Amino acid sequence: MPDATGASPEERTPVIEFRDVRKTFGSNVVLDGLNFAVHKGDVVTLIGPSGSGKTTILRLVMTLEHLSGGFIYIDGEPLTHEMRGGKRVERKPKDVDRIRRRIGMVFQQFNLFPNMTVLENIVEAPIHVLKRSKADAEARARQLLEQVGLADKADAHPLQLSGGQQQRVAIARALAMDPEILLLDEVTSALDPELVGEVLTVLRDVAKNTDITMLIVTHEMQFAQDVSNRILMFDHGRIIEEAAPDVMFTAPQHERTQAFLQAVL
Ligand code: ADP
Ligand code: MG
Repeated sequence: MPDATGASPEERTPVIEFRDVRKTFGSNVVLDGLNFAVHKGDVVTLIGPSGSGKTTILRLVMTLEHLSGGFIYIDGEPLTHEMRGGKRVERKPKDVDRIRRRIGMVFQQFNLFPNMTVLENIVEAPIHVLKRSKADAEARARQLLEQVGLADKADAHPLQLSGGQQQRVAIARALAMDPEILLLDEVTSALDPELVGEVLTVLRDVAKNTDITMLIVTHEMQFAQDVSNRILMFDHGRIIEEAAPDVMFTAPQHERTQAFLQAVL
């Protein structure tokens, strides 16, 4: 559908674009010429069997893995590699850092700093990376804690909190950087079942009430169906099927998608 500028999605510059992306670990070729694009405000969920490359894709966007070949563009700008003088070369660390600042990630393991309070965890990067004042960063952090239902936990230490509460702090910490892109890698997989709901509720709220572009890996198919506008089914590092959630979950076309969904639903 054309947007306000009259451009169709195909003509707009994608927020994330993978172009001929290759990723190897030693002799293991995980991604071999992967292409896809994600547009502003999209919420895209990656599904597929274990080992199909989903985490690797998110980690490449977060620049936590080295790109073996091809290019990743963020808002049309090359992230880690670009063509210069006919050659594929690495970008300068300061350019990579500038782009990476617009990207947030939440992991399966919450990765909070155990020796800092909840509030200190959230303001650390805004103060040190974005150079926000302590007062501004703390005001924003308290607002985010309110949003994730933890207004009373600002002075607690992470290990005094439940897993679900820790993960909500991790989400608040990512949001405190005002990311344009949020990457979520199985953020409920380490939680006891009764704590999953509170985390998904917070994420539903983020998906609904912000225009943050989200790339999600999850086994929570109902959640994926509720928040995503597109589902990509991966197998062996390739997109074997791609559809809107209502189509993907009710009428998957590919035999391997059908088998995968049968096993997880
Ligand atoms: P998924 O998240 O879909 O389960 P991953 O992206 O974690 O898949 O893994 C894809 C493939 O890459 C697997 O074969 C895995 O063993 C391999 N892999 C992932 N990370 C590493 C690593 N740090 N070192 C070596 N191999 C890795
Ligand atoms: Mg994974």
